Amino acid sequence: MSSINLSKSIKEKALEIGFDSVGISPVGSFPESQFYKEWLAKGFAGEMKYMEREPDKRADIKNILPEAKSVISCGLNYNTDYPYSIKEYDRRRGWISRYAWGDDYHNVMKDRLLILLDFIMRISPGEIRAHIYVDTGPVLDRVYGKYGGIGWFGKNTCIINQKIGSWIFIGEIITNLELEYDSPVPDKCGTCTRCIDACPTGAILEPYVLDSRLCISYLTIELKGKIPLELRDKLGNSIFGCDICQDVCPWNRKAKITDEPSFQPRDGLYNPELSSLMKLSEEDFRRVFKGSPIKRAKRKGFLRNVIIAMGNSGSKEFIPHIKEALDDKDPMVRAHAAWALWRLEGEGSYKTLLDHLEIESDPMVREEIASILNLCEKDNHSTTN
Ligand code: SF4
Ligand code: SF4
Repeated sequence: MSSINLSKSIKEKALEIGFDSVGISPVGSFPESQFYKEWLAKGFAGEMKYMEREPDKRADIKNILPEAKSVISCGLNYNTDYPYSIKEYDRRRGWISRYAWGDDYHNVMKDRLLILLDFIMRISPGEIRAHIYVDTGPVLDRVYGKYGGIGWFGKNTCIINQKIGSWIFIGEIITNLELEYDSPVPDKCGTCTRCIDACPTGAILEPYVLDSRLCISYLTIELKGKIPLELRDKLGNSIFGCDICQDVCPWNRKAKITDEPSFQPRDGLYNPELSSLMKLSEEDFRRVFKGSPIKRAKRKGFLRNVIIAMGNSGSKEFIPHIKEALDDKDPMVRAHAAWALWRLEGEGSYKTLLDHLEIESDPMVREEIASILNLCEKDNHSTTN
């Protein structure tokens, strides 16, 4: 079979088994690989050390498969039929990123890539060498997605497909097969800057450049320690990820809807009530988020985010929950509860926090409470002057 016919059959099969987009690129060194190294060198990856571990492997696919000639990129749409965060803003409810409403996409993606690989093995001549990657290997998904024609790099740094928008997961098959290659899609962002203007933390420093350390998605999912004090109010009601720069993107306005069962919101994960989440014990957390991307944050990270959202809600009904969290078993939860109480009660939180400082033994929480007490004193000073 010629490479043209082989490529055509692979693409037809990919669409038949449920991928929404498929494109093929040659293996090569693209300008984005150099940009990625510079991006890492500037520290924009924050604590995501796994990104720094194998930059050369990430930059050159031949370090993974020396015979590699082609990358087949497959896109899976996860845009379920639910309103966007910016349309449904209720301060007493949290916002979970669209990609995390359902099951972990890795399994769905991997199963389909395996079916596709099996098909390729059966129809291809000669000895086939291939690797499957779903966000787990040192591969620049988006770079190969771009050069395979899946979409262009938006100014918000997401891959945008003209028909599907940016709600798209990408997985790859890397192979030694010579195939027919697609062309990269031209950038269609034009003069639009909506994503940059809407980002609450200014994380998109300039078009196409994201400082993860400022991004709410990084802060609520990847960052394991305390959320920097100066960024907490900017998190709003985001408790796991942030969709704002995608929600405002005009290319997502008419994005295709998927009925893939694995991506539909699990019960209670679309715009969930904050108070119900605060009750999760370690065991509840494991049970509720089994097989969900949210388990990545672990209970302490997730509850840290929920408490910040409560603090940002302006809703005094959360005060009893926050006071209870001051006694939580986890220091991370206690530390952020002190901040949230101050957010809702201002200098009125002074006595409660002082009492807790007396019984608190964890140095990190003690330090946090002490700095919040300073803020209370400043509040008091500015009211009395
Ligand atoms: Fe900004 Fe949110 Fe987009 Fe991150 S995900 S760049 S915080 S709008
Ligand atoms: Fe591009 Fe505008 Fe979408 Fe940003 S909001 S990615 S600038 S089209």
